[in-house]
Amino acid sequence: MEVFADVILPIPLERLFTYRLPDGLAVDLEKGMRVAVPFGKSKIYTALVYRIHTDPPVVYEAKDIHEVIDKVPLVNAVQMEHWKWMASYYMCTLGEVFRTAVPGAFLLESETLVLRNGEKEWDDQQVSDQEFMVLEALEHQTSLKIQEVCDILERKTVLPLLHRMYEKGLIQLRETLHDQYTPKYVRTVTLNPKYESEKDLNDLLDELNRAPKQRQVLLTLFQLRAVSRLPLSASELQKKSGTSAGVIRGLIDKDILLEKKIRTDRVTFEGDTEGLQKPVLSDFQQKSLEDITASFKDRDVTLLHGVTSSGKTEVYMKLMETFLADGKQVLYLLPEIALTTQLISRLQTCFGSRVAVFHSRFSLNERVEVWNNVRRNEEKAKVVIGARSSLFLPFDNLGLVIVDEEHENSFKQFDPAPRYHARDAAIVLATLHGAKVLLGSATPSLESFYNVRTGKYGYTSMEQRFGGVQMPEVDLVDIRDASRRKRMTGHFSEALIAGINETLAVREQVILFQNRRGYAPVVECMTCGHAPQCPNCDVSLTYHQGRNELRCHYCGYSEKMMVQCVACGNATLDTKGFGTEQIEKELKELFPDARTGRMDLDTTRGKFAYEKIITGFASGEFDILVGTQMVTKGLDFRHVNLVGIMNADALLNFPDFRAHERSFQLLTQVAGRAGRTEKRGKVLIQTYNPQNPVLRQVVNGDYTGMYEDQMSQRREYLYPPVNRIIRISFKHRAYHTLNEAASWFGQALRNLFGTSVLGPEYPPVARIRNQYIKQVLVKIPREQSLTQTKNSIKRIENSFNAISQYRSVRVIYDVDYF
Ligand code: ADP
Ligand code: ZN
Repeated sequence: MEVFADVILPIPLERLFTYRLPDGLAVDLEKGMRVAVPFGKSKIYTALVYRIHTDPPVVYEAKDIHEVIDKVPLVNAVQMEHWKWMASYYMCTLGEVFRTAVPGAFLLESETLVLRNGEKEWDDQQVSDQEFMVLEALEHQTSLKIQEVCDILERKTVLPLLHRMYEKGLIQLRETLHDQYTPKYVRTVTLNPKYESEKDLNDLLDELNRAPKQRQVLLTLFQLRAVSRLPLSASELQKKSGTSAGVIRGLIDKDILLEKKIRTDRVTFEGDTEGLQKPVLSDFQQKSLEDITASFKDRDVTLLHGVTSSGKTEVYMKLMETFLADGKQVLYLLPEIALTTQLISRLQTCFGSRVAVFHSRFSLNERVEVWNNVRRNEEKAKVVIGARSSLFLPFDNLGLVIVDEEHENSFKQFDPAPRYHARDAAIVLATLHGAKVLLGSATPSLESFYNVRTGKYGYTSMEQRFGGVQMPEVDLVDIRDASRRKRMTGHFSEALIAGINETLAVREQVILFQNRRGYAPVVECMTCGHAPQCPNCDVSLTYHQGRNELRCHYCGYSEKMMVQCVACGNATLDTKGFGTEQIEKELKELFPDARTGRMDLDTTRGKFAYEKIITGFASGEFDILVGTQMVTKGLDFRHVNLVGIMNADALLNFPDFRAHERSFQLLTQVAGRAGRTEKRGKVLIQTYNPQNPVLRQVVNGDYTGMYEDQMSQRREYLYPPVNRIIRISFKHRAYHTLNEAASWFGQALRNLFGTSVLGPEYPPVARIRNQYIKQVLVKIPREQSLTQTKNSIKRIENSFNAISQYRSVRVIYDVDYF
């Protein structure tokens, strides 16, 4: 009887494909193993076995599987279940989940292929026109062959260009079928067992009297062996015995030492396992821990609502201990940017070498190692700490998931599909494992708090800071009044200047928050009103003074700043609005003696740049740190006594139903960086609207007030968490096609769902990279079936795709968009 396998291909296809297993290959094939299969005219893909059966496909002749790649399944049954849920919930394909879930090094292909580097947000200003064209093509197609790239660029040679793009991390290159994962080895040496007896050993040492250096090496080896039984690396032996590699080589050649290569893992803990420090909880932390344990008895998810610096991390660690003691694995999820060495070493002091870090900044190899360690449930990966993609690891015995800063919107993946929310996906994953979930935040998302109120989640709170430290004093500074009376210096109010002076005088530090990078978001001619726009996007260009450039923050376009207006020719260009770069410049003029640093996307490009700024600031290398949201994320600085928010209004006025919730969270979080030690910290929020209720709630630390206000709005306008929401985006190069297509789709939706459908409307930036965009929101009441709604939407899409002029319009679903 013939055997077939349904496989998942790592491309966005709705269906699974069936392949035949040639005789001989079928023996050991299991679900979750990788196979190499031909697809299309000439491509070979790595696919994943989803189901093995004996039913030949009806409509096509099954091709043969070329090769079985794995000996044991790469992906386990729970993961498969989880992927299935993810594809169905987030309206994408299993192939898309496969591609995101598995480190790139596991996906081999037959020819050199150019792929977009999924993790890399490509840097605006570093992309040339030709590079841009390649990237753009990769938005539509998962991969391009070299020849296809030549065609797109109308050039014969593209390899140098692709090389540059690869070096910049913009693309990935895949070569012929070979495993890209190269483990790292160390050369170890041991004494040949034939000298183990005392007599033989003495004879040997006598014999070596004529070779004193070799003799010295052996004596050192014995000393080291007396201390540790661990394999000894050749280089360490060489160093400790003060000889050369040649001497050791000589001993190996004489067969006195045996040489062996063993694999090591790159992310290792260097400390001493003996000296691990367990946290000792304060009374209120202990109380919360007990609440959590009690609530886990009848609920799977619990929210820890603890003010900034209440010591949530310590509570997590204590809780983790109990799960580890039961032999369980623990996943500690946090926003990418909060994944600092500061936090990692805190966990390592407690859990030592059991901590594994899964980080997009790590190399493919390092990620492959963590993957394998987790799959084998090894000691060195009992605690996995990572950003959202770490929830795809092949957990074998997951007991607890911690989602730190659960309100953070960076847990949501925007692009590409699957557009999943890591917090929600983690909860589903935990359910599949029978594991528990602890969500933690000082400013919980409305979604999570709503689930607490409705009794779905357990709850505990910590309302004071650890060690009796006071919450900072938050004041609003009315800059409308100050501007009118011309009492502002640049963007600084008198109160803020005074605050900074006082703080600097006592050698404490200052953080200033401004939500935009660059110098100014708009350049405008004072004579004719012309403002330079991006040629590819409907957005004005941001002025970057340092490079004297205008840049688009959406597509990467850049040009030299002009001297005269291109429209009227007058040299009357001025800037509007301000970003971090301008604040930094004003600071240098206002406080010439202070040392300043800046943390935003422009200053944190390199692999370690972000870390360097954080450590620099923590160790007092500079006095004032200016930054975007980056400065708000869970950083624990000891000497910050003043936090200034340059302008709260831009946040509050953002056109999105979550803007007020977000502003509350962001401002409270950044305020929480102040005064983490004895002295009470101070926060100054500059605003044109000191009466704004959200700002008052920030001042009073009134989370519940914010929750009630926002919830009443969400109820009135039927937004989440009251309703669910799906955002459907349409993208196309041609304005008219897009408009017609979006209206058609919108109308079809309205026929079914009536007034629950909003739009189609243009988003705030209506064209990005030459693609026009329109969006429709579908609100889904809790009592309406989500599955049926999605099925109906998919049916509409099928009819839509049957209309030939709409077929080229991209339709993108974002379920629970954030
Ligand atoms: P949060 O995450 O709630 O903002 P952290 O976990 O960063 O707060 O804790 C704030 C500071 O207090 C940290 O420096 C932490 O080391 C310290 N801290 C908190 N709890 C304890 C504890 N039980 N023992 C010792 N130090 C603690
Ligand atoms: Zn642009």
